[in-house]
Amino acid sequence: MSNIYLFDVDGTLTDAKCKIEATFADEFLSWMHDKEVYIVSGGSFERIIDQLGLDIMNKVAGVFACMGNIFYNRIEHINPPKYDEWEIVYENKFKAPRGLYKDLIRLVDDSEFYNKTGKHYEERVGMVNFSIVGRNAGTVERNQYSNYDAEFNERARIVEILKDKYPKLDFVVGGAVSIDIFNKGSDKSQIVNKYFKEAIRTNQVIFVGDRVDFPGNDYALAEKLNRRKNGKVFKVDTWQDTQKLLKTEPFA
Ligand SMILES: [Mg+2]
Repeated sequence: MSNIYLFDVDGTLTDAKCKIEATFADEFLSWMHDKEVYIVSGGSFERIIDQLGLDIMNKVAGVFACMGNIFYNRIEHINPPKYDEWEIVYENKFKAPRGLYKDLIRLVDDSEFYNKTGKHYEERVGMVNFSIVGRNAGTVERNQYSNYDAEFNERARIVEILKDKYPKLDFVVGGAVSIDIFNKGSDKSQIVNKYFKEAIRTNQVIFVGDRVDFPGNDYALAEKLNRRKNGKVFKVDTWQDTQKLLKTEPFA
């Protein structure tokens, strides 16, 4: 039995949305030398490269981006080429149920928020991001909406309406102004059945994340691993916690 290590990025290897700290990057790089390491993040592949840097990325076995909705596998060569190659192993397409976009437009029309900027939904890998203020909003409009929502609780109300109508979808209030819409189960937990189903029978799969408690975005994955004999979960609050963790069993 060997160990397979999975790491969240924001709040686990880096401060949220920041680049990895230089000293820790070196430590992590030498730690991962002889390990099988995967990254499991809500961010896009491009953002993860930007946060972790190429040295670390060139040593990971694979990257689950966008909440595990897309998986990039490193192609191994007997004679490695000068550059690293990646292949997309799977990618979930979000298929909107009939009527969803019409309902979203109606919700925008019905909202009494005073400064709608247009472009109210955007398809991403495996999900749709929706906002009443619209994606053309700058900082001012976003702040206006964030305050409006804090006062009138509009997003929570919209989520309740949509949840009733679309029981197969999940709606999550994300960021300061938007709502994330995805198929139920299209969260980080999907990687267990999609990729580690065989491996977890004979290997220990160890996950480190900062949002493993409900309703955090690591919760579904942590819960799934905790139910497995060979699954193990470590909760950290900061990358400094992870730094200390790497010096202890079963990491050291
Ligand atoms: Mg995190």
